[in-house]
Amino acid sequence: MLFPIPVNQVINQKFVSYSLVKYRDWEFEVEILLTQQAYSNIPFGGADRCSCADCKNYVANRETIFPEELTQLFNELGIDYRKEIEIWAIQRLENGLHQISGWFHFKGKIISGKDFRMPFADGNGYSFDLTSITENFKIGFAPGNDLTFFESKEGLIQIEFITNIQWVIDKKDETF
Ligand SMILES: [Zn+2]
Repeated sequence: MLFPIPVNQVINQKFVSYSLVKYRDWEFEVEILLTQQAYSNIPFGGADRCSCADCKNYVANRETIFPEELTQLFNELGIDYRKEIEIWAIQRLENGLHQISGWFHFKGKIISGKDFRMPFADGNGYSFDLTSITENFKIGFAPGNDLTFFESKEGLIQIEFITNIQWVIDKKDETF
């Protein structure tokens, strides 16, 4: 029986599998097996490990937060959207929605497309330039490894997102 030949290479005795992933104006190179492995090695996302009300509310919303084109992208990158690194609450908006920021990592490179970090003119720090996907969801990509659970911290891309979500858990715990 013949098996299809996979696009894989053995580099330094390690099995490496690269894929090219296109999304909107971006093109990524991803080491999908390594990324999938890193996500399957951890049991929960950052929000599951935190007892604060904002994390609990995020977890209660999580199945409906990501637009379909992003759950599809995450699949292609090997990311489990239920296993964010961390989330944090920015503010409550005038319309009552809670604005939450969070991030993920994958092993790979940005081949083309914008980097969300916009350096300040004086060189001290940067601002975030995220791309709106829906009214309540923005995303961006840049090299980064903040608090990563990946074993090797080299060559990671950080995916930052901001989402506006409803407070769906006990009203008495509502923040802001
Ligand atoms: Zn928390």
